[in-house]
Amino acid sequence: MNLELSPEDLAFRDEVRAFLESALTPELRDAGRRTTSVFTDARYSLAWQKILFAKGWVAPSWPKEYGGTGWNEMQRYIFARECARGGAPGLAPMGLRMVAPAIMRYGTEAQKSHYLPRILSGEDYWCQGYSEPGSGSDLASLQLRAVSDGDDYVLNGSKIWTTHAHFANRMFCLVRTRFEGKPQAGITFLLLDMASPGITVKPIVTLAREHEVNQVFFDNVRVPKAYRLGDENNGWTVAKYLLEFERGGGSAAGLKVSLARLHAIACTEPSDDGTVLIEDSHFVAKLAEIEILIDAIEMTEHRVMSALASGNNPGPASSMLKMQGTEAMQRLDELVIEAVARYGCVEQPEARAPGSNVEPIGPEHSLFAMPRYLNNRAASIYGGSNEIQRNIIATLVLGL
Ligand SMILES: Cc1cc2nc3c(=O)[nH]c(=O)nc-3n(C[C@H](O)[C@H](O)[C@H](O)COP(=O)(O)OP(=O)(O)OC[C@H]3O[C@@H](n4cnc5c(N)ncnc54)[C@H](O)[C@@H]3O)c2cc1C
Repeated sequence: MNLELSPEDLAFRDEVRAFLESALTPELRDAGRRTTSVFTDARYSLAWQKILFAKGWVAPSWPKEYGGTGWNEMQRYIFARECARGGAPGLAPMGLRMVAPAIMRYGTEAQKSHYLPRILSGEDYWCQGYSEPGSGSDLASLQLRAVSDGDDYVLNGSKIWTTHAHFANRMFCLVRTRFEGKPQAGITFLLLDMASPGITVKPIVTLAREHEVNQVFFDNVRVPKAYRLGDENNGWTVAKYLLEFERGGGSAAGLKVSLARLHAIACTEPSDDGTVLIEDSHFVAKLAEIEILIDAIEMTEHRVMSALASGNNPGPASSMLKMQGTEAMQRLDELVIEAVARYGCVEQPEARAPGSNVEPIGPEHSLFAMPRYLNNRAASIYGGSNEIQRNIIATLVLGL
């Protein structure tokens, strides 16, 4: 695969760089740099989304008819790389990257024209209501009841680990509409309003002392049947389609930025023999190993992007990308902890918050090492654990 930039690509890259230079405020860059998990605080990611929306660059992977940029695969790669390089905050994926493709595929014309523009502009902020207490890997066992009552469903039960439910005004949600027969054949996919009476969002604070995930309770919540995506009891098909997009998103650009950050840390942090880590051949060998893995992920991402450009969904390659991308991320975190071990456990949530003026104890990079390490342990669990991804590959690719 040829990743050399042509003169046209170089001109496009310069155009993107010039735009980022002028559009990314110091506050946004700071929020991007301080993100210790996959999701940037919604206040900053939405501010950035609005700027990209005004420019027409918010959804490079969407078809042009719905508001995509019409860029080719190389342009999309360049844009992702430049955003990561420039320190742009990440955009929340639940709307733009996850529910939007499902609405395009399974939505009615009315649903498409209502939801897609609101996702693009950031007017709607989505969360994902799949997992329940007791139903994660075995998602088909989910129990949130949706009982038919006239033109509505009435929902009772709860969802858990719901990322950013406290920011979201919409949830895409899997509910049980049939209790007998095969579990997969009794699930329905709903698009619901988080302001509906009977919904309560309770925070779950993580080991890194951050509030990102929640438990969401449903107490006789009425959801109009018009908010259903796809047919009743056919939600499993929609859910699986969406998961391919959740798992197949690009990560190489971000991983390369993290690798560069680790490299910079290794140039300053001392090694056991009294020099700096970058002169320690054992540490350098570990850097080389992770760099090779990231290059391989980047190539696979290009193959998946080619498939998407020709109108295909990612398929099982998304499982491979999810697994490799999250394992590379965790390996990078481990190496950062190895490099900054002297400071790694220092607890300073107030010093690392976006916009904070609190002076950190130790070098600034040590502030983010432990929260990133702890938060990213979850990366091989959420979106379907990596063991489950290996099962998918074994079944769909190896035919086992
Ligand atoms: C930080 C975070 C954010 C999340 N955000 C969301 C969200 O926004 N929305 C949402 O719906 N969910 C979310 N989740 C939930 C996530 O999808 C589930 O945690 C995940 O699917 C695993 O389910 P579980 O936690 O019930 O673990 P379990 O399914 O109980 O798994 C426990 C362990 O057993 C292993 N295991 C289970 N079954 C098998 C098998 N068949 N073969 C081999 N190994 C197996 C798993 O890999 C895991 O190691 C989030 C989770 C985390 C940690």
